[in-house]
Amino acid sequence: MRYFDINLDLNEDDLALKDAARKFAEQEMRPVAAELDRLSAEEVVADNSPLWTFLAKAYSLGYHKLLLPDCYGGLGLTPLQISLVLEELGWGSFGLSVQLAVGSFPFYLVCMSGNEELIEKFVTPYCNCTDGSIRGCWGITEPEHGSDTLAAGEEYFSSPAMKGSVRGRIEGDELVINGQKSAWVSGGTIATHTMLHLQIEPEKGFAGSGVCIVPLDHPGVSRGKPLEKLGQRDLNQGEIYFDDVRIPLSHLLVNPDFYVPTLDTILAAANLCMANWSIGLSRAAFEEALNYCRERVQGGRPLIEHYTTKQRLFQMFARVETQRALTRAATNLNFSINPPIVEYSLAAKIQSTELAFANADDAIQLLGGNGLTREYLTEKLFRDARATLIEDGSTETLARHGGHLLMEEYPKRLD
Ligand SMILES: Cc1cc2nc3c(=O)[nH]c(=O)nc-3n(C[C@H](O)[C@H](O)[C@H](O)COP(=O)(O)OP(=O)(O)OC[C@H]3O[C@@H](n4cnc5c(N)ncnc54)[C@H](O)[C@@H]3O)c2cc1C
Repeated sequence: MRYFDINLDLNEDDLALKDAARKFAEQEMRPVAAELDRLSAEEVVADNSPLWTFLAKAYSLGYHKLLLPDCYGGLGLTPLQISLVLEELGWGSFGLSVQLAVGSFPFYLVCMSGNEELIEKFVTPYCNCTDGSIRGCWGITEPEHGSDTLAAGEEYFSSPAMKGSVRGRIEGDELVINGQKSAWVSGGTIATHTMLHLQIEPEKGFAGSGVCIVPLDHPGVSRGKPLEKLGQRDLNQGEIYFDDVRIPLSHLLVNPDFYVPTLDTILAAANLCMANWSIGLSRAAFEEALNYCRERVQGGRPLIEHYTTKQRLFQMFARVETQRALTRAATNLNFSINPPIVEYSLAAKIQSTELAFANADDAIQLLGGNGLTREYLTEKLFRDARATLIEDGSTETLARHGGHLLMEEYPKRLD
């Protein structure tokens, strides 16, 4: 087969990583994701679930640490390599990709803090873990505050009227945590650690927040039930409750003085993951449609020989390449500089998820009635893609935030 990639500059290492990820996605992710998709949310995380063997396999191959730098035990991939691998994983399963990446978020932030003691305590065991038994999660969304928690550009973000559900109180050399994160925390019921956003100076609204790492075996931590949802059903989700949970103050990785820029840095990285996985999902939809249209005969000829079908398939191909062009460029930019230029990550996430959703929708249309059935992957891709327009910030919220950033920065570029 002719090698197909818009980047001509892929070297041997890049190609080997991409091929390995593709095999993993095809042989390990796709079958497990299909199985988990049909289970209840409780069954997905039951002791006999195939999730656990999948995670062990993924960890043994190092896919849990692909965002982490090699100096701390991560894979130390280049931004382009991260992009190539995430695309393949997104092709395999969006939900399982989220589980793996979000699992590394607390450890990613500890690496960013540069605190050698915490790196030794948390990051080293995580990077050495080969059985999937150490899993992180990102606790930001609250029952009363979804978009609010990401809206750093809005005036109300800094208003004392914004009362966070999770509060942190500093007592001597301890941080005391109380409150609840929402049922949308990915991996929330199965995580061993969380990267927790919590309000510390309530008089500053959400701008008075901080971020800490909390091992979830602490007394006072409890969990909700796994959440049932439309798409990404292979991704576990659920609440985490904190009742007078005491952790050392040194676990506070970001204090209120640095909260807003750090929030943007986290959002920039998370949104790039979403954008890259969406390329894979979109490509999967395109490939499903292409294969089907080669086989299905209507009007005496395979669908692919009909003019309008070719046109539609070409548009699907073009969407994938558009996603790749913007997302790879944004990934290259924002995983190379610090602080990131956040609007590029937001633009990549918004565009890539919307184009993936359009491809999932078109794939169903091209498969006709079959596209709606569980016999074909298109139905799952459509449900998974629908969730991405809300996940890690709804399209509208991210666009508003991007608009605020642009209004501050863009006029300076014109001067
Ligand atoms: C699959 C999935 C995985 C997720 N994983 C995680 C995770 O790992 N950790 C975590 O903490 N959270 C996670 N989330 C939560 C996610 O980030 C939130 O769902 C998202 O931020 C939106 O918040 P919300 O659902 O509360 O919607 P709301 O904020 O209530 O928004 C509802 C609607 O109102 C609109 N809206 C909101 N504010 C305004 C405004 N000021 N002006 C006009 N319109 C507005 C929104 O665009 C949206 O259309 C996940 C969500 C999904 C779907």
